[in-house]
Amino acid sequence: MTRKSIVIIGAGLGGLSAAISLAAKGYQVTVCEKNSHAGGRLNILEKDGYSFDLGPSIIILPQLFRSLFSRAGKIMEDYVTFVPVEPQWRNFFEDGTQFDICGDLTLMEKALSELPGGSEGYFDFVEYSRRLYNFSREAYFEEGLENTLDIMKRHNPLAVWRGTDFPRTVQAGVNRFVKSPYLREVLGFFVKYVGSSSYAAPAVLNLMLYSQLGWGLWYVKDGMYELARGLERLAWELGVEIRLNTEVTAVSTSASRVTTVSLADGTDLSPDLVVSNLEVIPAYRDLMGEDDQHLKTLKKFRPACSGLVVHLGVDTVYPSLAHHNFFYSESTKDHFATIFDREELPKDPTTYVVSPTVSNPALAPEGHSIIKILPHVPPIPEDGSVPDYDALLERVLTKLERMGLKDLRQHIVTRDVLTPFDIQRLYRSNRGAIYGVVSDMHDNWGFKAPRHSTKYSNLYFTGGSVNPGPGTPMVTLCGQLVADAIAKDWPTD
Ligand SMILES: Cc1cc2nc3c(=O)[nH]c(=O)nc-3n(C[C@H](O)[C@H](O)[C@H](O)COP(=O)(O)OP(=O)(O)OC[C@H]3O[C@@H](n4cnc5c(N)ncnc54)[C@H](O)[C@@H]3O)c2cc1C
Repeated sequence: MTRKSIVIIGAGLGGLSAAISLAAKGYQVTVCEKNSHAGGRLNILEKDGYSFDLGPSIIILPQLFRSLFSRAGKIMEDYVTFVPVEPQWRNFFEDGTQFDICGDLTLMEKALSELPGGSEGYFDFVEYSRRLYNFSREAYFEEGLENTLDIMKRHNPLAVWRGTDFPRTVQAGVNRFVKSPYLREVLGFFVKYVGSSSYAAPAVLNLMLYSQLGWGLWYVKDGMYELARGLERLAWELGVEIRLNTEVTAVSTSASRVTTVSLADGTDLSPDLVVSNLEVIPAYRDLMGEDDQHLKTLKKFRPACSGLVVHLGVDTVYPSLAHHNFFYSESTKDHFATIFDREELPKDPTTYVVSPTVSNPALAPEGHSIIKILPHVPPIPEDGSVPDYDALLERVLTKLERMGLKDLRQHIVTRDVLTPFDIQRLYRSNRGAIYGVVSDMHDNWGFKAPRHSTKYSNLYFTGGSVNPGPGTPMVTLCGQLVADAIAKDWPTD
């Protein structure tokens, strides 16, 4: 008896999750990864005594990782250990106000009681977020439904309306419940988990707060890259072959099937099925040479924002920083409009700052720390021009020094900067997006491209450009959903 063979293009988290889930079901799986490491955007750089996690810094919804290990009959803690991050978010405002979002209820009550102007409506918003989460968990995550029509067929219209807060945006949903200008900024900014604008993304994404509070915010013991190592080890144990430094250069088709996967070294593979962890648009355009007519049907799956990803090794420790921090713009509305509507570099970006050495000082030499700075920026301009990222970085450093990170520039010992062009080069993401497809109520109502190709019967996609979307938990779930779909459509012999 021969097992059905599957080639997975890319060993990002979405690819590894699909590989593990498929191998656990008995398929013969080969993963081709162009880079020298597995994990994709979950990437690491060791430099001058600092260990920089170049991609994700935190994790929510740990149960979606645990379920991947259970599928293989394994216990997650034997491979990777998650440690809680508390406070979850530390928020800094230009007027000097500082406010923490905490998982611990006592700490949260205290933070809310100290917020200037009051915090009325916060817990009503939490309950609302819970309602949205529970609806999406059932329809979108567990049943795996991928468009409005399918959801309407399975759920009564009133439940869909209430469960998605149709037809509001994220920000309108926030503003319904809270009046505090600080809370409006903070709760609206949760949409950063999917690289979108709170003024354009559908309100259902307000499920994010409860996704974080309900199951906690986590970091990976010894650094985020340990998650990639754990998944890579599990994949090998299940018999998956992971070929690193192996670039796929083309995927050939015949009628409604994909037939051959061609590698840069001239080898051709002829699997029964292909799963692309490369995003949908670059896969169809660059590997399959699809015509403009087909690509046009994918236009609604525009890239989410990119980022200027700056890692600093500094010879001091800033006690005011938590692990996970946000330095807000004077106007987040303007910040979103600049990035998403005008597609320009923001003048005063809300800036995400991570200091993983708060959780694990061993990542830097003694008395030193790591400061990761991540202002969001538009994806690579379509006209090919190169925005002035250096000037943006200077503006951000000035802002951070003004808002409490005194003399930051003088303390820099080493640094690494990734622009959207580097992100595209490293992971081949569409225009250097860091979170796959943008969630926009006019374009796609928050849905991403379908996991099963609408054109080729034996081609599937996994990762941030397809449902349920970007972020480490979602792409990990995606790989599991893809394996279930393949097992249904193409059962093992
Ligand atoms: C700076 C940054 C910060 C982030 N922060 C967070 C965070 O804190 N929390 C969180 O949950 N998420 C975060 N994310 C998002 C998260 O990292 C991604 O959503 C997720 O890792 C994407 O996984 P993926 O499998 O979809 O894609 P990828 O990780 O991009 O994997 C795709 C893989 O395919 C490979 N590939 C592409 N083309 C080819 C080819 N032709 N041949 C062979 N291989 C190919 C690529 O090399 C890559 O390894 C962050 C992302 C970035 C970049």
